[in-house]
Amino acid sequence: MAQLGGQPIFIMKEGTERTRGKDAMENNIAAAKVIAEAVRTSLGPRGMDKMLVDQFGDVVITNDGATILKEIDVQHPAAKMMVEVAKTQDSEVGDGTTTSVILAGELLKRAEKLLQQKIHPTVITEGFRKAADKAVEILDAMSIKSGIDDKKGLKNAAMTCMSSKIVVESKDKLADICIGAIEAVAEKDGNGKWVADIDKIQIQKKQGDMIDDTSLIKGIILDKEVVAPGMPKSIKDAKILLTQSAIEIEKTEFDAKLQITSPEQIQQFLDEEEKMLRDMAEKIVKSGANVVICQKGIDDMAQHFLARAGIMVVRRVKKSDLEKLSKATGGMILTNLDDAKPENLGYAGLVEERKVMNDSWVFIEECKNPKSVVILIRGGTELVIDEVERALHDALCVIRDVVEDQKIVGGGGAPELETAIQLREYASTLGGREQLAVEVFADSLDIIPKTLAENAGLDQIDVLMKLRAAHQKGYKFAGHDMETGEVVNNMMEVGVVEPTSVKIQAIKSSTEATCMILRIDDVIAGVKSAGPPGGGMPPGMGGMPPGMGGMGGMPPGMM
Ligand code: ADP
Ligand code: MG
Repeated sequence: MAQLGGQPIFIMKEGTERTRGKDAMENNIAAAKVIAEAVRTSLGPRGMDKMLVDQFGDVVITNDGATILKEIDVQHPAAKMMVEVAKTQDSEVGDGTTTSVILAGELLKRAEKLLQQKIHPTVITEGFRKAADKAVEILDAMSIKSGIDDKKGLKNAAMTCMSSKIVVESKDKLADICIGAIEAVAEKDGNGKWVADIDKIQIQKKQGDMIDDTSLIKGIILDKEVVAPGMPKSIKDAKILLTQSAIEIEKTEFDAKLQITSPEQIQQFLDEEEKMLRDMAEKIVKSGANVVICQKGIDDMAQHFLARAGIMVVRRVKKSDLEKLSKATGGMILTNLDDAKPENLGYAGLVEERKVMNDSWVFIEECKNPKSVVILIRGGTELVIDEVERALHDALCVIRDVVEDQKIVGGGGAPELETAIQLREYASTLGGREQLAVEVFADSLDIIPKTLAENAGLDQIDVLMKLRAAHQKGYKFAGHDMETGEVVNNMMEVGVVEPTSVKIQAIKSSTEATCMILRIDDVIAGVKSAGPPGGGMPPGMGGMPPGMGGMGGMPPGMM
């Protein structure tokens, strides 16, 4: 509101809340720190899990940073930006979400101290950006070459990624499954670069058995059963007919009245119907198909004819599955049975109905196109299976990252620590306030080895000193192996490996969010319009609650 000649001028709508300058910044930083704090204890192989309960009472148990933040309903705008950090990290590289959020929190915490020393936010953000660019260079330079042929590197990266999840006991087997899946879908693009699209890997989940029973199926799974008991349940060298249309007599679109005057006519009528179905079945038999997969229904009579011919039939298959099958088996999706010809059939080495818990599913394996794969996840409870799925997603992403980017580093906080050391050397060449900002950035990176140590119940300072000493001696991948509790000179040798791209992305996304938050000196929260009657917030309630708005709903145990 401004005053002009005694007349107040309203510039913003009444009720608009505005926080400015130092207050706005402190407020934002505090909210962002709360988010970082919330995920801190879940970092690393010794990190804890979180149990999240939503308003409907649904439970999620996870230690995946992105999932934790997705599940908690964050309202403060700066806190939301931290959630975005995790999301970006997840969508870009699929792992390192907790790392990036913790890093952003630490950068902000330390930036706050610089602000208190009256250093202008612009100086800080410029210094941070410079430091981040340099850090990326340093990480790139310390990386070891890897790629699709480096089986050991791929496997170690996948296992490291899963070592902080509940699947840790089965990580060896799951890593092999994920590598097999990625190898199946990986291909060279036009420029000779390897690309692996993880969307091509189908994930199926079924409660029961143990995580160890999770398997990789080279082919496709249909959660349907063979339609009639008389049909074969397993067919080798399957010639598959895929059809979109129903195998039954179509009902007329008009109301038709049929006047039957004698019993013979009924018989004639039925005979005609039978003949039509028999014709349809015959067309299928003649094509040489021994498996029929149909999107719609199949008449009982047709089923009977097909069963007699030893043909396996699956009906009411989803359109998307039919399309996948078409790609996998090379078969055409027919709309008319007149097209049932040998050249239009798909091929698979084995089509088999198997019992998975209480359901029967049809497995189509050894397909013509080996690029279609399914990971069938098993586990005791739904909560476990969901977390296994998240772990596998991370592992698949990590393998893809290594296949595409072809660079790895040792893990366990080693790359962050080494980058920090080299950044400090770089800072000394700068001078002035910029130097200060770059040094602060370097100090922030130490939060990763520190948090890993803390979560393992070790003394942070003690670990940091030991590690720094090793790094000074030139061991760039010296780290603390949380599984043995030892400081090792090369984390790669104990199999703790991470894709360089995950480390680089964590630095990029956390720096970006930090700089964005640091540049805000004015928060103007408009009045939220009233929601639909009955629901929504009453007018005037909107805007940003002062202080740590939004996070207040989280139980204290979550911190
Ligand atoms: P994020 O969401 O950031 O990936 P994680 O909980 O998966 O968080 O933890 C990843 C961190 O744990 C990485 O810094 C990784 O190097 C480290 N880590 C994994 N295995 C080990 C190990 N055996 N010893 C030490 N650190 C490890
Ligand atoms: Mg991880």
